Amino acid sequence: MKYCQHCAGSITHHIPPGDDKLRYCCIACDVVFYQNPNNIVGTLPIYEDKVLLCRRAIEPRRGKWTLPAGFMENGETTLHGAIRETLEEAGATVVPADCSLYTLFNLPYINQVYLFFRTSLRAPEFHAGEESLEVALFAEEEVPWSELAFPVVRITLEQYFADRREGVFPVRMFDLHYSAEGQLSTFLISSSTSNRNN
Ligand SMILES: [Zn+2]
Repeated sequence: MKYCQHCAGSITHHIPPGDDKLRYCCIACDVVFYQNPNNIVGTLPIYEDKVLLCRRAIEPRRGKWTLPAGFMENGETTLHGAIRETLEEAGATVVPADCSLYTLFNLPYINQVYLFFRTSLRAPEFHAGEESLEVALFAEEEVPWSELAFPVVRITLEQYFADRREGVFPVRMFDLHYSAEGQLSTFLISSSTSNRNN
């Protein structure tokens, strides 16, 4: 960012008065351009005993398998963004009544928050969208575990198959952090009580 989108003045990078973080600021009109984390919303679509995965047609992680998910747009809710991404990437239609918030991930090292909704497909109808090479249903033993695109996808799938054995699906929030050695660690921050209790 070089020029102000309001007045075309020059942008500088400094800590504004009363703030404690470096910001992009316009020296002409004093507007501060805040940069905040992005929300990525998606679904875990289930049909019978299988989960729906998409093989990515785009970078990063082209060719790897993922759950349908993408950046939330302005003007939409988290759930409607997740439903839109499921249609765009997997050609699958899911309805809000079939969706429950399931996992939330904080990824402060890349300024992202992921939210996945657990949902069911009413029919095995889907097709690869623009950003997918293929879309397919996988039983637990068929999941391409070594070919998953992102840790948040692996963790969400692991939780789902474990929860399914218990018959309860708590909402969980995780924080992911990289150590100085580049090792990824996952921390379970909170877990809702089971649906039987609420
Ligand atoms: Zn300006």
